Amino acid sequence: MPKKDSRIYIIDVTNRDGVQTSRLGLAKLQKTIINIMLNEMGVYQSEFGFPVTYHETHYLNANLKLAKMGVLKPIILSGWIRAIVDDVEKALALTAVKHLNISASTSKQMIRGKYRGKRSANDVIRDMTDALDYAKTHGIKTIGVNAEDASRTDLDFLIKFALAAKDHGADRFRYCDTLGYDDPFTIYERIKTIAQKVKIPIELHCHNDLGMVVASSVAGAKGAIDAGVDAYINTCINGMGERAGNADLVSVILAIQKSSGFADRYVLDERVDLSKSWQIAIYASYAFDVSVPINQPGVGANAFAHESGIHADGALKDRHNYELYDYQELGRGDTEIIETGRKITAGEYSGIRGFRNVYEKLEIRFHDDEDATRILELVRYANVHTQKPLTKRELLFIARYPEIARELMTFTPLATWKPTK
Ligand SMILES: [Zn+2]
Repeated sequence: MPKKDSRIYIIDVTNRDGVQTSRLGLAKLQKTIINIMLNEMGVYQSEFGFPVTYHETHYLNANLKLAKMGVLKPIILSGWIRAIVDDVEKALALTAVKHLNISASTSKQMIRGKYRGKRSANDVIRDMTDALDYAKTHGIKTIGVNAEDASRTDLDFLIKFALAAKDHGADRFRYCDTLGYDDPFTIYERIKTIAQKVKIPIELHCHNDLGMVVASSVAGAKGAIDAGVDAYINTCINGMGERAGNADLVSVILAIQKSSGFADRYVLDERVDLSKSWQIAIYASYAFDVSVPINQPGVGANAFAHESGIHADGALKDRHNYELYDYQELGRGDTEIIETGRKITAGEYSGIRGFRNVYEKLEIRFHDDEDATRILELVRYANVHTQKPLTKRELLFIARYPEIARELMTFTPLATWKPTK
């Protein structure tokens, strides 16, 4: 039976795994809007980028300022780096990040195939604990330690690795099913064993190569909770992520809240607000330029559509006949107004008149022309950045936080950092 006081939390990795994916990317403004929307949705943590990658620096620091200003609150913003001291040092030198996940490869395949004889399994543990010690003594508040390719790692070694992480002050252990190799049954057993032996909160980071990503993620979370520790599921909006993707954010929430074995038995972080699902899925789809599949759980065009005689008749008599949950619960059902006549958009070559027209429709008034011109210049840059008409949220963000927008859109090659030793 699940322990009543253990919880499942969401750590969304759209802004890390989602953007590192082949052919997918987001402008820094879009990543920022996603952080804001995740916060509004009550997501516990956003893995918001790469603190050692130079082109992320301004974006990361600008978002950390938004956190200080209370705009990105209470969501935790965490960075992803390799589990080596150099990366921690560089992350601290370039950014004000206070939460990290540090990653090492743990399977024999990867230690042999990636480190090529330069690092032994014990070296991997030592590098990780050195990085952890350095981070803990230099002001990092929380750290998750990632075992890349955990699902293909010998379980005894994985436990040794996780115990070393815990001994050196890790807050969570991230079990990465990097290749989507686990199934719900194997991951349940493995996670339960690790949780019992190590007694550390566990993150589930699963991939969809065999089509089982959501099932494996929730089964892993069940294993953690049955063993008495908290579980953190890594998600991506619309199931983006390397290759076949990570666990879809909305599907994970639905699986925990609505499935026969989880609903009312396993507790999802109470702050999670399912009613924000529709808007975040639609925004991410626009930002990534990847449409939401018609049959996507909860947010696909067909998720609440009925056509065949028996189904339509049944759903009309009582929607519970053919629907597990209401479309309103996901924030669907509003009529969307689409302008079919003249439309002025704001872009990289916009002039002041069209621009003021766009903002007047959003009920934003500028004090004077100078004020408007200042925002217009930022909107032009933002459009250079995204290469598509800016959304209402993006336009409002720029008008509300022009200095933050300026910072996160600033691109100056910064390759000046050198390790101290
Ligand atoms: Zn991944």
